[in-house]
Amino acid sequence: MKENSQAKPILWIVIPCYNEEAVLPLTGPLFRQKLQSLCDAGLISSRSRILFVNDGSRDRTWELICGMASKDEAFLGISQSRNRGHQNAVLAGLMEARDRCDVTISIDCDGQDDLNAMDEMLRRYWEGYEVVYGVRSERKTDTWFKRTTAQGFYRLMAALGADVVYNHADYRLISSRVLQSFADFEEVNIFLRGLVPLVGYPSTSVFYERRERMAGESHYPLRKMLALAFNGITSLSVKPITIITGFGIGFSVLGLAAMIWAVIEAFLGHTVAGWASTVCIICLLGGIQLISLGIIGQYVGKTYLEAKHRPRYIISDRTWEPYRRHWIEEETDGKGIPGD
Ligand code: UDP
Ligand code: MG
Repeated sequence: MKENSQAKPILWIVIPCYNEEAVLPLTGPLFRQKLQSLCDAGLISSRSRILFVNDGSRDRTWELICGMASKDEAFLGISQSRNRGHQNAVLAGLMEARDRCDVTISIDCDGQDDLNAMDEMLRRYWEGYEVVYGVRSERKTDTWFKRTTAQGFYRLMAALGADVVYNHADYRLISSRVLQSFADFEEVNIFLRGLVPLVGYPSTSVFYERRERMAGESHYPLRKMLALAFNGITSLSVKPITIITGFGIGFSVLGLAAMIWAVIEAFLGHTVAGWASTVCIICLLGGIQLISLGIIGQYVGKTYLEAKHRPRYIISDRTWEPYRRHWIEEETDGKGIPGD
């Protein structure tokens, strides 16, 4: 990349967008200004680009992206054939960018993450770091409850084997060298936050304040967030299964002790109807067994999904090479059905 001392890294900013027609007209120009100012500051090459990934939006998001790309060559866009979720959209963008740039920064399109952290990220990159995590500094406005639950959440994730960077979402700088290595991680269930640290390479963090969305609505209600956390844990570690095994051993020992006690009681002639205790034990064990089966089932399900090796994303359109239906014209000279 650096043939001479003047050479600067080409940056691609990767931005997933799903039904964001309300926010794109606001944040699009902000991203453009930021790219220009990074360029003026001498941190990146003037051939740097902004890559929007349309994640199968149902509104006018893709038209807006195409509009921006046609007016300004700094904007590029790819579109997924259908909605595949935030993680896959980011992955599609990063994989598209990796051979065309030196470094990428992924960021959400809703203006929640502070664009000014990019300067700091790139300075760290110049210092030699290949992965720079954007970490949300603790907001003083957060309630005690929110802070504690968030902290508990990260501790739980770490305890269960999903060692993610505290308070880091998906705002991060990754060099193309790291992305090349990352491409070898072929799993279908992806949880980028947990996977990027596994790739290795020197990494560091920069801190920023996270704001409210500029417009539109969040696509991450509590239900989806819990699903993401669960997906993170089960795709990064098998600790839950180990814990279940531990439970199983513990209860088996207890069960054995109870059996000996029951037999002794029976011999001594103290046996009573014992209906309540029997029902309690059956209920307790039944519940634990069902939960355990469920968790193990999740892993079996994941193995099933991985075994199929389906593509993780399908890019249907690119702003720089629009898809044209031309073959009918060529084959038939526009006159009719081939072989007529
Ligand atoms: N997003 C996406 N596909 C989805 C859901 C979300 O590409 O299925 C994008 C969305 O456009 C945004 C980012 O992922 O750029 C984060 O989503 P959102 O802001 O709704 O989540 P939150 O910040 O509330 O957690
Ligand atoms: Mg958001």
